[in-house]
Amino acid sequence: MTTIQGKNFIGYALSSEGEKHFKAYAPASDSYLPETFQCATIEEVNKTMQLAEKAFDSYSQVPAAGRAAFLIAITEEILALGDELLARASLETGLPVARLQGERARTINQLTQFAELLREGSWVEASIDTALPDRAPVPKPDIRKMLVPIGPVIVFGSSNFPFAYSVAGVDSGPALAAGNPVIVKAHPAHPGVSDLTAQAIVRAAERTGMPEGTFSMLYDDGFDVGTALVKHPASKAVGFTGSYRGGMALFRLAQEREEPIPVFAEMGSVNPIVVLPQYLKNNAAQLGKTLAGSVSLGAGQFCTNPGLVFVTKTEGLETFQDAYKTEILRTPSATMLTAGICKTYYKLRGEALKQPDVSALAISDIHSEGQNQAEASIALVSGQNFIANPKLHEEVFGPFSLLIVCEDTDELYNAVAHLKGQLTATLIAEEAEVAHYPKIVRQLAKISGRFIMNGVPTGVEVCPSIHHGGPFPATADSKFTSVGRHSILRFVRPQSFQNWPDALLPEELKNSNPLGIFRLVDNVLTKEATI
Ligand code: NAP
Repeated sequence: MTTIQGKNFIGYALSSEGEKHFKAYAPASDSYLPETFQCATIEEVNKTMQLAEKAFDSYSQVPAAGRAAFLIAITEEILALGDELLARASLETGLPVARLQGERARTINQLTQFAELLREGSWVEASIDTALPDRAPVPKPDIRKMLVPIGPVIVFGSSNFPFAYSVAGVDSGPALAAGNPVIVKAHPAHPGVSDLTAQAIVRAAERTGMPEGTFSMLYDDGFDVGTALVKHPASKAVGFTGSYRGGMALFRLAQEREEPIPVFAEMGSVNPIVVLPQYLKNNAAQLGKTLAGSVSLGAGQFCTNPGLVFVTKTEGLETFQDAYKTEILRTPSATMLTAGICKTYYKLRGEALKQPDVSALAISDIHSEGQNQAEASIALVSGQNFIANPKLHEEVFGPFSLLIVCEDTDELYNAVAHLKGQLTATLIAEEAEVAHYPKIVRQLAKISGRFIMNGVPTGVEVCPSIHHGGPFPATADSKFTSVGRHSILRFVRPQSFQNWPDALLPEELKNSNPLGIFRLVDNVLTKEATI
């Protein structure tokens, strides 16, 4: 049994200089757990950042193989925590152990994929343009370029993924892989899980000889520590997953600094689903069932939860609505992550239901045991009233979805044209009918990071081709993904070396290509050595 420390992890030391502390909350029993967690002081923030700045000099020089060994050691240490980690996560989040088991496996997979990326090595995008000393009228110099780490990265995880988007999650993994120290602001919704995970990372860092300060984690149940971390001059980038409000607050802070730094904020999304008429006619009942499952999955606490479903008044609509309603009505309520999230869910759902022309289509009244229960619910509105009311375009975090019934596909196009940027958009259609609606298809493609056909948006595969991001406000920067190997690009910068002697160049750029990686040499992708 590993003891939860409840203190700040500053490099290899535990620190508790402050007076302020908080307790972990168990949402299912609506009670506080015994351990206390010490909020960091501003002095502790400064100490952490000084250590991270120093660590950057040496950690950025650790060869890729060493960083890969560190990432693998993290996975081993996390797995060594065994069922204890899962039990604690379930206690702090109300999520079932089976779901958490899957999320832990995904987290291990993410870290392992980065270790493999480092071992293979070509991710640094090395390119070499050899010199042409005889070129007229001016000689061409020898120029070589690769990606290098950016500096200490501040990580804010989200409440709904205590592993995959938290201490060892989608930001920490690629930031560490790239050669940057990481400083996590632990999420107060799962401090015990964060503590156990931080201990695993620290053990892995010590075991593989990483410089002190490569990893730190600080507690706070307010905004002071997060604000101070983002403002600290040694911070060079921020990875954030959470609400639009939180993401934008940190984004603004980072832009107001004397040296602005990038904030990669992955924020909420309503993930529109558009159903075309022919498909609705042919698959009405099955579709209702499938969508209800996606809306209520995990108490609707996914950033990819389908918050808006667009249909037209065509044959099959009634059958679809009946099946959708029936399935929602038989969905048992589920525990939400925190009392605050549960309260906000009912508040936002209540506000949505009060809007002109909005009516409840189905609200489940099957209540499971435990506190902070969210009822699955769906509501109905006309296309015209949806278009006129921007309030209905916003995320309601939880098992709620709005069905927008449009007069025809022109109105449907008009409705989706009012949507802002999204993580995902889904087209439900017969293949043969897609060509008849080019404007709708183009519009959905324009606003989404991942465009799905005949599926549901919940479920994010971890693989190189995934793009988990999207146009603002889904993220602060649509060019980057937070999932998959390319997420590492958030935490690096390109650097060119001009006319450097071969012996002094980084291994990745030396003539002999000692790492055997793919490089773009004089515009040809090759693993060959240069002469
Ligand atoms: P949150 O309340 O924004 O919290 C995220 C983290 O940011 C917490 O550590 C929080 O600290 C901190 N934070 C929030 N506002 C801040 C501010 N003004 N200054 C400094 N720090 C601040 O979000 P959440 O409730 O954990 O997560 C739910 C949301 O995340 C949903 O909207 C969901 O859609 C979204 N989400 C998005 C993705 C994605 O990949 N795009 C994935 C999962 C979830 P405190 O807790 O101390 O306030």
